[in-house]
Amino acid sequence: MKKNFRKKIKARVQMLLVLLLAFAVLLTLDWIVNHQVNTEHRQSQSTDPSRSFYPDFEQKKFWSEHLEPIFQALIGHKYHIPEIQKRYDDSMAIIDNLYGRLNINISSNYIAQSHNILAGSGFATNGIPELTIVVPAIMDVYASLRSSEHPGWKEAFEYCNVLNVMHELDHIAYEEKHTMQTHLLPLDQLVEHERGAWARTCEYSIAPLVEKYQVLLTASEMQYYKLWVNTGRNPNSQEWIVAIRNIYKETRR
Ligand SMILES: [Zn+2]
Repeated sequence: MKKNFRKKIKARVQMLLVLLLAFAVLLTLDWIVNHQVNTEHRQSQSTDPSRSFYPDFEQKKFWSEHLEPIFQALIGHKYHIPEIQKRYDDSMAIIDNLYGRLNINISSNYIAQSHNILAGSGFATNGIPELTIVVPAIMDVYASLRSSEHPGWKEAFEYCNVLNVMHELDHIAYEEKHTMQTHLLPLDQLVEHERGAWARTCEYSIAPLVEKYQVLLTASEMQYYKLWVNTGRNPNSQEWIVAIRNIYKETRR
């Protein structure tokens, strides 16, 4: 039996209302963050590629310590980077206007396609947008960054999590709803979504962090940012589209 503490937080805009429900639906997921994380030891222990071997209590503790505070700050309008808070508020206002609410699912299992998928977004059958946080994959990133012993690893970890959220909102708030309902999009369609979403994430979330605050980001986020700058900050640039395709084709092997 799969152990599962999947919970669903229904976070209404402007409210700090948290409800925990069992057995969230498995979402449509169409993106990947390309973190370099060694998860081979975990994958080798099971034939179920989504199964996590982190105990539930460990995952809950991790969520409470590292992830919940970020959501609390954003929902409470208290995130310490004003540009991030503004982008969050703007995106959530659009989502609230379009759909009335956003559900946040906390997954205690990996996404089967890749253990590097840290979050995802999609729409439930009732049409409500959902953002999924893949806790075991984020725990792997945490372990990987910690083992780097880089003095700024905790900072990089926090911004990695913030940017995961911001990126998913860049899908949900600004894309056509119907385009996100396919379970596993063909690569061409996936690239079409990601080039727009990552352009928005780079311009409105990563750029202020790098250019104004000079914060430390992980190699993955810096990869997107450098590509964005080097291709002229243009979502229609052929170089940008090719670069995004090269990253996302890893999800279609
Ligand atoms: Zn994406």
